[in-house]
Amino acid sequence: MITLNAEKYRENGFEQIYLKAVYEVLSENMKGNKTIQSTKEPKVVREIVRFLQKYGLLSVLEADVPAHTDVDDLDEETLFAVMKALILADEKKLREMYERLETTSYEEDRTNLTKPGPLHEIFDFLNYFGDNAYEHMRKKEVSLLNGEDEPDKLPNQMVKSLELRTCPYCNRAFIGTVGKENLGVQLDHFYSKSIYPIFAVCLYNLIPSCSHCNRIKTNRDDKELVSPFRKGVSFEKKIKFELVDDGKVQLVVDESDSELTLKSNVRTFKLKEAYNFHNIEGKRFVDKMRAYPPSLIREIARHMTVRDEITGDVIEKVPVEALEMGLFQEYFCEPADYIKKPLAKFYRDLYYEYRGWE
Ligand SMILES: [Zn+2]
Repeated sequence: MITLNAEKYRENGFEQIYLKAVYEVLSENMKGNKTIQSTKEPKVVREIVRFLQKYGLLSVLEADVPAHTDVDDLDEETLFAVMKALILADEKKLREMYERLETTSYEEDRTNLTKPGPLHEIFDFLNYFGDNAYEHMRKKEVSLLNGEDEPDKLPNQMVKSLELRTCPYCNRAFIGTVGKENLGVQLDHFYSKSIYPIFAVCLYNLIPSCSHCNRIKTNRDDKELVSPFRKGVSFEKKIKFELVDDGKVQLVVDESDSELTLKSNVRTFKLKEAYNFHNIEGKRFVDKMRAYPPSLIREIARHMTVRDEITGDVIEKVPVEALEMGLFQEYFCEPADYIKKPLAKFYRDLYYEYRGWE
């Protein structure tokens, strides 16, 4: 698991690019649903605000809509302000809305739609919105602000904007594009699209991930699952890789804080099983470290001393650290760069554990 930095989306203007793309998708592609056809302009947004009001979610979004206001009376500016707050709701607000839906009649309403009526209409619309808007949005091409690249599919631009190269759920696979038509990145709906279509196009509900993790998670609705966008969780400390006696690598979850553990993430993405696959890489790496203990590296560094040809004086020394890095750099990675390298955390833990033995 790796943390995603939401600030990146803000700093490089991606939030605004994303917002514009979603608005375009809504205005171009949302005309096939009977609810939308029977409602006044701007139809889609008004229906969404109606839903947010029904389940008490407007206050989470800090929307400027007084209680008991008739949504039909809201002007366009107010409606779009609410829509913007929803699309760009951060991880904390998404979680608050999710928890609020759990305490309302939402689940019951959603699963009890046999009778035609206003509820049926609202859920019919939401499901249409969730699938349709997301599918169009995923295929939308956008340009990044720096303008260096050609317009590209939105998921590709998301990973570029986050500087993400590996799946945040597993840190095993590279994610990235293989040409415009073959997306190497999938977007996982952290809160399932089929259960919570209202979050279908919320930027911080979309987690760029590898196909394996996206598939394995499916529509799981697990309260304990932690989003990679969650602030204040040190994924770095919560999961650790250790060598066990028979030379195998074991994933260990820190459960000291029962409120916030990554136990559920490890279980959902089958990370223990997934990392068993990497015993080969672990063994190779450990063998290499065993072959070059620090004592040998110091010895090599001593012999690599460069002397003046005439006087024999030492004119340059090769630092031990430089040799160490030369040997292990390809494996080594600072926590801030985990997002760029598969197995980064795995190798870093093994490195420190092994060097700790010396
Ligand atoms: Zn993955």
